[in-house]
Amino acid sequence: MAEHRPKYIFITGGVISSVGKGIATASLGRLLQSRGLSVTVQKLDPYLNVDPGTMSPYQHGEVYVTDDGAETDLDLGHYERFLDQDLTAASSVTMGQISAEVIERERRGDYLGGTIQTVPHVTDLIKERVRGLAEHSGVDVLIVEVGGTVGDIEGQAFLEAIRQMRYEEPREGTLAIHVTPLFYLAATGELKTKPTQHSVRTLRSMGIQPDVIISRTDAPAERSITNKLALFCDVPSEAVMTLETADSIYQVPSMLEQAGLTELTLSRLQLTARPSAPGRSIDDWTEWAGGLSRTERVCRVGIAGKYVELRDAYLSVKEALIHAGAQRAARIEIKWIQSDDLDHADQPQIAAALADVDGVIVPGGFGERGIEGEIGVARFALEQRIPYLGLCRGMQNMVIAFARDRLQLADANTTEADPQTSNPVIALLDDQRELTQLGGTMRLGMYPCQLQPESRAQALYGSDIANERHRHRWEFNPRYRDRFEDAGLVASGTSRDGALVEIAEVGDHPFMIGSQFHPELKSRPQRSHPLFLGFIDSVLAESETALRHPVGAAAPRPSALHTLAGRVAEG
Ligand code: GLN
Repeated sequence: MAEHRPKYIFITGGVISSVGKGIATASLGRLLQSRGLSVTVQKLDPYLNVDPGTMSPYQHGEVYVTDDGAETDLDLGHYERFLDQDLTAASSVTMGQISAEVIERERRGDYLGGTIQTVPHVTDLIKERVRGLAEHSGVDVLIVEVGGTVGDIEGQAFLEAIRQMRYEEPREGTLAIHVTPLFYLAATGELKTKPTQHSVRTLRSMGIQPDVIISRTDAPAERSITNKLALFCDVPSEAVMTLETADSIYQVPSMLEQAGLTELTLSRLQLTARPSAPGRSIDDWTEWAGGLSRTERVCRVGIAGKYVELRDAYLSVKEALIHAGAQRAARIEIKWIQSDDLDHADQPQIAAALADVDGVIVPGGFGERGIEGEIGVARFALEQRIPYLGLCRGMQNMVIAFARDRLQLADANTTEADPQTSNPVIALLDDQRELTQLGGTMRLGMYPCQLQPESRAQALYGSDIANERHRHRWEFNPRYRDRFEDAGLVASGTSRDGALVEIAEVGDHPFMIGSQFHPELKSRPQRSHPLFLGFIDSVLAESETALRHPVGAAAPRPSALHTLAGRVAEG
């Protein structure tokens, strides 16, 4: 049998972050898949946290959770969505993990007698992690994205490890891609290449000559710009690609295909294309992505959460909505609602916040701030029959709203917000109560969920079992379950042993479902998530009812949202 020799593509960023390096990485993965190659992706993050699990969403955006319970960078979400492939903890490497392991090995005595140094001990371990994933997964190509930008002090060990791998692997075994911005100067109407030139110079000073440059630009770049970059960065001009800012991230694979990135990669790495798997051709992707801009229907959804100032905190929720909208040929318009602004709101204020949406999502979150506002939103959605989808904390808040509204438990709460409540409908399980460490101690990763016969959840999934990803400590308190069920809030999904409530749904409501897990993490562009799809169907039905019966007009099923909002608008 021929020896398995994976190829490596290293993607670094220059000048500033947020240029689209993660999307370019994910897109290239998809493009190679479209040529029948097997691919996986790994992110190397230079920070010293072991994982982003304990970081504030304001620092880091969303924490993306894999099936095996790793808390990772949100770029892993892009990789999973673009590749339609589930990744594992091995795809997320941080300098925190590398440092912790080097120290552990040193304490164990593995390096007996040696002085522990960045080179070779840290760099060897980085190479071990990179090659380990490529070999273990057996892929044709491993794409490795380095977080941050070239020149950052923390990233140097990663770049040195990459330099060494480029030296050790055959010439056609690796490819280095550098992603930078081109700045547009309005005063002179020019695109400036100098920052990219400097960044490439820094990269070369680390011993890495890029093979390809991808430059993101807000304005069309003339051939003279790419020629200039080619000359000063020592990269052939066909390997300098400018990538104009797209309307949707999902257009990027097709743009890079057109720019010639796939062919260039195949020829540099001496890879032979194979027929793509069904649905994986670039035409399939382009067709799907093209549908996003061809839609006429608009679907207005509110997202009421505490981190809405930073949209990246709910990245997967936004993407899952786009996927479900695409499947129903509807464009999603999101209204971001700051939940802690509603912590002391009365009903008309909540009505006003929800006045111009046809459905609302309460996403995940931690800590007390914003909880009352979110419970208020859930209660309003319950009373006024507005489509509601609760994601983790959003499910917990829906349960609390129901207890206050329908069980007359005025002080019902989660012990996360009120440890003294006499009705802890959301509480910690015994094994979580004993914990003293914050990092990595939540219920994390994939758990099977048993769906109850004849429930809405079962109908949406079209199955008796769902495998979904968790990231939380608090749970539905089983002591209250019978009372809830008698009043119409059903545990339509539970753990296999029936002990934990994983999905709650309100029976006599157009759509009110909350999941203890995060369904948004499993939604894929061409395979949207059943809970999101069910929600969007209900939102579209709501908006069509509203259109037929504008505010103030008599309607057979008046949308309370609109009538009440109308009253508020009238003062
Ligand atoms: N803070 C809640 C818990 O830990 C919800 C977590 C979440 O929404 N991911 O249970």
